[in-house]
Amino acid sequence: MTTLSASAPLDTHTSGRTTLAGTWATGTSEREPGQQPESPLALSFEVMPPRSAEQQERSGELLDLLASYDPDYVAVTSAVRTGWSAGTAAFISQLSATTRLRPLAHLACTAAPRDELVTWIERYIDSGVRGFLAIRGDLAPGATAPPSGHLAHADALVTLLRSVERNQVARLCAGRFAIGVAAYPSGHPESKRPEEDIDVLAAKQRNGADFAITQLFFNPAQITTMSRRADLAGVTLPIIPGIMPITGSARLTRMCHLSGLTPPAYIAQALAAAGSPAEEYEIGLSLTADFVEALVEVGVPGLHFYTFNDPTTITELLARLSPQTRARLTNNRKDTP
Ligand code: FAD
Repeated sequence: MTTLSASAPLDTHTSGRTTLAGTWATGTSEREPGQQPESPLALSFEVMPPRSAEQQERSGELLDLLASYDPDYVAVTSAVRTGWSAGTAAFISQLSATTRLRPLAHLACTAAPRDELVTWIERYIDSGVRGFLAIRGDLAPGATAPPSGHLAHADALVTLLRSVERNQVARLCAGRFAIGVAAYPSGHPESKRPEEDIDVLAAKQRNGADFAITQLFFNPAQITTMSRRADLAGVTLPIIPGIMPITGSARLTRMCHLSGLTPPAYIAQALAAAGSPAEEYEIGLSLTADFVEALVEVGVPGLHFYTFNDPTTITELLARLSPQTRARLTNNRKDTP
């Protein structure tokens, strides 16, 4: 069983923390006497269920490293190549058995027909999961919608989650799931106009979503614009940026292709100017750290890091953040209640 509270993902929480040598320990902020501390930033990571025996063997190291940062939650993806919900649930079981991490299960309309999704939601409740990311899921090549019998869009999945929640309210001690949804500062490739992305976010909120995590993007102004438009449309969900560590042009190109984006010219040029893969990695991580600082500057409520299951890169990226940002990521993590 996990210890996730009914609304844990965006709550502050108090728990003991251990620190891996040198990773997090220097996060102190310099504050004038009497000055109010800056508000905490939510911290979360995305991981993928292992796809091979070798990845499975290395997954313990990844989870231990992430646990050392005491994040608010760890989101576990759901995809065809990792067995959809079966793979997600298996990795959440490992995470819960071996760490104190709070899981957020990705649940995709494409993973199973509606009734089967209900069974999965109930199984997640049985195992203590109380946080979900409700997504449509990537479509099969050539498909324009999920198969028949599946929910067509994520807003319907939010409704389904809330209806299962109502039926199980006694088991949840009258508590609620925390339900996240996807948001697109650069626009979803299937959306016909930018307003559609805001309309859809509003529908997800109306149906019961609590927060949104974004697809990757590269310009901090895009999340400001999206938040302003969302605000005007009455969308009050916290919109948390999803951050992809840039480690080289190959990953950048692949991820942009999958997300229907074009890599920004200034990033592509900076990476192309590198004299070696090691230099490319350094340049990429520096650009990512600058991006994170700019996001903090514009006032995002939290930071969600796509880990690609690579503990080294996450350690090196977080170590590059300013002491002030690191302090805000640890502010809500006290040693005693
Ligand atoms: P939807 O909200 O259904 O939107 C898809 C398109 O349909 C958009 O153009 C939207 O405007 C439109 N639309 C939405 N609702 C309606 C409606 N009611 N009527 C008409 N049109 C509508 N994919 C995976 O397979 N597994 C994962 O684990 C995963 N994790 C992700 C995590 C994050 C943080 C993000 C941002 C994406 C993730 N994805 C994942 C990718 C996601 O599945 C794709 O981006 C997918 O194409 C859309 O998902 P969605 O939930 O935004 O879909």
